[in-house]
Amino acid sequence: MSKQKTLCDWSKKDLRERFEELRELVSQPQYVCLKCGRAASQKGALCKAQSLEKPPK
Ligand SMILES: [Zn+2]
Repeated sequence: MSKQKTLCDWSKKDLRERFEELRELVSQPQYVCLKCGRAASQKGALCKAQSLEKPPK
C-alpha cells in the first residue's frame, strides 16, 4: 500500500483485519476527526484532523 488510507475510510472489515494497527493509532490519541468523531495519534490518519491540545473556538 503506497498511500495511507485514513482511519475514517476503514471499513468494518479493515478494523477487524488491521486491529494491531488500529490499536496503535487510537491508544494515544492526539487528534480527533471533526467530521467522523474518530481519534488517532497521527494527523494523517483522519480526514478532518483537529488537535486535541488546541480545540477549535
Ligand atoms: Zn474523518
